[in-house]
Amino acid sequence: MNSENQIVVVGGGIAGLCAAIAARRIGASVHLLDNAPAALRGGNARHARNFRVVHPEPTPFAPGSYQSAEFLAELDGVAGGVGDRTLAERLVAGSETLVPWLMENGVTMQTPSLGVVPYSRRTVFPLGGGKAMINALYRTAAALGIMISNDTSVTALRESTSGWRVDLGSGGENAATIQARRVIVCAGSPGADPAWLTTHYGAAGDGLMIRGTRYADGRLLDRLLAMGAQASGDPTVCHMVAVDARGPRFDGGIVTRITAIPHGMVVDASGARIDAAGAGQKPTHYARWGPRIAACDRQTAYLILDADGLQRAAPQAFAPIEAKSIAALAAALDCNPATLEAAVAEFNAAPTTSARPVTRAPFAAYPMRAGITFVHHGVAVDDRLRVVWTDGRTNDTLFAAGMIMAANVLRRGYLAGLGLTLAAVIGRLAGEEAARHVIR
Ligand SMILES: Cc1cc2nc3c(=O)[nH]c(=O)nc-3n(C[C@H](O)[C@H](O)[C@H](O)COP(=O)(O)OP(=O)(O)OC[C@H]3O[C@@H](n4cnc5c(N)ncnc54)[C@H](O)[C@@H]3O)c2cc1C
Repeated sequence: MNSENQIVVVGGGIAGLCAAIAARRIGASVHLLDNAPAALRGGNARHARNFRVVHPEPTPFAPGSYQSAEFLAELDGVAGGVGDRTLAERLVAGSETLVPWLMENGVTMQTPSLGVVPYSRRTVFPLGGGKAMINALYRTAAALGIMISNDTSVTALRESTSGWRVDLGSGGENAATIQARRVIVCAGSPGADPAWLTTHYGAAGDGLMIRGTRYADGRLLDRLLAMGAQASGDPTVCHMVAVDARGPRFDGGIVTRITAIPHGMVVDASGARIDAAGAGQKPTHYARWGPRIAACDRQTAYLILDADGLQRAAPQAFAPIEAKSIAALAAALDCNPATLEAAVAEFNAAPTTSARPVTRAPFAAYPMRAGITFVHHGVAVDDRLRVVWTDGRTNDTLFAAGMIMAANVLRRGYLAGLGLTLAAVIGRLAGEEAARHVIR
C-alpha cells in the first residue's frame, strides 16, 4: 500500500470514481478503495441507466431543452423543499457540464436517433448502460495513475496530525492502516445489511429486498456518526419499489421490478385486495407500491392478472404463477381461496378506470416484495462537501459525496436520473475541493 496518498477515496461507485478522477486531474495522488470484489465493482451504477442533466438547447443526446430553474423546481417539488439550497444549485449547475466531462473520461453516450432509449428531454443514457460506463471510468482512473484496491474495506477513520489514518480490513492478517491527507467518503446509501434493516425497520426489515449492491452496508456511515458526524435525513425514509419476491435478496437490479400492476389487481398474503394511493397508471406506479407492500403482513403481496392482463403486460424477469381458476391460484399462492375469490369479485364489480376486470382464464400471479433503491439518510456536509460534526464544526480534511450525503438535498422523493447525476456531479466537486487543499 502507498503510505503517501494525498487523497484516499472510500467507495468505488460512480461518486468515488468521479471524485478520484477529478482530484487526480488536478494533480493529487489518489488511492481508491472499494470493498467489493473486482467483478462487482461500481456500486449501484452497474444497474443504472440515465442521468438528469440541464441543457439549454438540444444536444446530440437529448432533444429540446431542460433549464436549471426547471430542474430546481422539480427537485423542490418532490423533496418538499430542497435541503441545502447552495448545494442543490451546485448540483444542478454541475449537471450541465457532466456529459462532456464523462465523455472526456472515456464514457460513450447514446444518441436517441438509434431508437433504443426512451424519448427523454430531461435525461441522457450512457451507451451500454451503467456497467459499460463504470468500466470506462475504471479504465480512465487506472490510466491516470490512480491506485485502485478492490476487496478492501475501510473499517475506521482516525484523525491524525497530517490528516487521517484509514484502517483497512476487519483485523487479523489482512488488516492494515494507510495515511491520507484528505479522505473523501463515497460509501453509498446505507441499508444493504440485514442488521441495519432490523435496527431501523424492526421485524419488517427481514422482508425487504435490496435492489443494489450488498457492499454498501452503511457500516462506515454508522462509524462516522459514532465519531460525532452530524446525520442528515431519516433512516426510515427510503425509495422502494415493487419487485418480484423470487428475485435475489441483493443486487436484483432493474429487471426484477414489477411493472405490470396497472394491468391487474393487487392482494396481500391473505388474498384480500389492497390499493396504493396515487399509484394508478403512472409510469412510476411501482414506486408507490413499494412502501405499500412493505407495510403488508410478511412484506408480501401478489399481482393478480387474467389472460388479457397477461397479454397486455410487458414480460417480467420471472414467469408468472398460472392456474385455471382463482381458487386454484389461491392454492398455489397459499392464500385463502374464499378471500381471493371475494377480492376478485369486488374488483370486477368496480374495476378502476385503468384496469379491466379479471375474468378470463388462465389466471396468473406475481409474488411481490418491496425493494429498496436507496435510503434518505446519511452524513451532513456543508456546501463544499466537508463533513459537518454535531457541534457544527467542519474541517478541511474529510469530505463526503454521492448517496451517502444525498439527503442534504433530497430528504424524500425522487426524480428519474437524479441518483447518478447527484453521485457524479457531487463526486467530481468533492474531488476538486479536496485536491485544491493538497495542491497549492
Ligand atoms: C436497481 C437500481 C437502478 C438504478 N437506476 C438508476 C438510474 O437509472 N438513474 C439514476 O440516476 N440512478 C439510478 N439508481 C441510483 C444510482 O445507481 C445511485 O444513486 C448511484 O449509483 C450511487 O452512487 P454512489 O457512488 O453514491 O454509491 P454506490 O453506488 O452505493 O457506491 C458505493 C461504493 O462504496 C463501496 N463501499 C461501501 N462501504 C465501503 C467501505 N467501508 N469500504 C470500502 N468501500 C465501501 C461499495 O462497495 C460501493 O462500491 C439506481 C439504483 C439501483 C439500486
